[in-house]
Amino acid sequence: MKFKSPYIARVYEDIVARNPNEPEFHQAVKEVFETITPVIENNDIYEKHGILERITEPERLITFRVTWVSDDGKVNVNRGYRVQFNSAIGPYKGGLRLHPSVNASVLKFLGFEQIFKNSLTGLPMGGGKGGSDFNPKGKSDMEIMRFCQAFMSELYRHIGPNLDVPAGDIGTGAREIGYLFGQYKRLANEFTGVLTGKGLAYGGSLVRKEATGYGLCYFTEEMLKGLKNDSIKNKKVCVSGSGNVAIYAIEKIYELGGLPVTASDSDGFIYDPNGIDLDLLKKLKEVERKRIFEYADIVKGAEYFEGQRPWAIPCDIALPCATQNELELDDAKKLVENNVIAVAEGANMPCTPEAIEYFQNSKVLYGPAKAANAGGVATSGLEMSQNSMRYSWTFEKVDERLKAIMKGIFDNVSETAKTYGVEGDLMAGANMAGFLKVADAMIAQGIIF
Ligand code: NDP
Repeated sequence: MKFKSPYIARVYEDIVARNPNEPEFHQAVKEVFETITPVIENNDIYEKHGILERITEPERLITFRVTWVSDDGKVNVNRGYRVQFNSAIGPYKGGLRLHPSVNASVLKFLGFEQIFKNSLTGLPMGGGKGGSDFNPKGKSDMEIMRFCQAFMSELYRHIGPNLDVPAGDIGTGAREIGYLFGQYKRLANEFTGVLTGKGLAYGGSLVRKEATGYGLCYFTEEMLKGLKNDSIKNKKVCVSGSGNVAIYAIEKIYELGGLPVTASDSDGFIYDPNGIDLDLLKKLKEVERKRIFEYADIVKGAEYFEGQRPWAIPCDIALPCATQNELELDDAKKLVENNVIAVAEGANMPCTPEAIEYFQNSKVLYGPAKAANAGGVATSGLEMSQNSMRYSWTFEKVDERLKAIMKGIFDNVSETAKTYGVEGDLMAGANMAGFLKVADAMIAQGIIF
């Protein structure tokens, strides 16, 4: 491993040694460390205060047993987690992932990235993440409810509206947030904004459901305008995933005049050259909870590709919106071969480091997740504000704020890249801008001797 700064090299080596078997966490740390060298070399205060050592160690990592009973009467045990990574600039904030692949490494990578993402939004939110290795696929509604209640029966003692405010993520949508909120309310005996992504009838914010996908498109639009004097209009867009982020990215692509032609799940992808039928996609995925292949059975001209990813389909813009490491070097090569002009990350860490390097060397615009998908947590921050005021803003007002936040993020990230001599490198800009605010707050708050 070669880092230019001896301080960074030493800390990274230590992290790998002290956190064995955590490849996703190492990957996320490495990406940040590789890009913040100019900031660290410019000022020895960060080394003096041990900021890299501290920022990479969660303030708290809570794991707990979740016992729940399935419909057949069987007792099931899953592992629950909450990573409270950094509270320098606000209460811990980050989603809950329910997926069999969840473990400490995955949640530490997500929680670590969340620190910088939340910092970029300009809102007072620290970084956290949580979840469980519970697999919601194929479970009945009652099983989901029992699991969520069991999960919250332990989690509730660790969270609070001024302490830690979880939200949704993979496998945790409006239904799960409802069950989790209900259980928190019962146990804590209070009605507070302790979770975001809530239903509109009980403290949710308009636009929260749409926010990550919409924000991704607002960011992409800013990136195209600012760095290429171009826009999404008339562009063909490949999207992966068919969950919350993908669906509302597709909706916004249409509104901005683009043509989304793919969607996927973990079994394969669909290609609809006439543009994805959004109403049908919502019905299949949000209402009926079906698999994506069923789309191709219904729509004439659409094709289903089992076990494949959508990146070989020619497009102008690629928006990976499913999961980590879903776009690898070979996928990047195919996209570049087909003249892609921009890639922006809806999912967290969807592009591998090799794919990112290839895009950057090929002069493809690359919007990193920390900046491009920050619209979700930003709108969660707006939900927290509305809850504190016991007030609800209109759709237009929240959407306007979201748009302004995404523009602010793009401007901050590209300005920071320019200031530190890496103009156009939005990944470096995002990491440095996100880092500076948190690191300076940590220094200001001192260390206990
Ligand atoms: P959902 O659970 O709503 O949807 C996830 C989608 O990704 C599904 O289509 C799912 O397919 C697919 N997927 C999951 N795992 C894999 C895999 N291993 N390989 C291929 N496809 C997979 O989640 P979200 O849309 O909320 O989240 C998607 C991504 O966006 C995640 O990386 C998340 O962390 C990130 N994100 C989400 C935010 C939010 O507000 N929801 C905010 C910021 C980031 P299947 O049904 O087959 O599992």
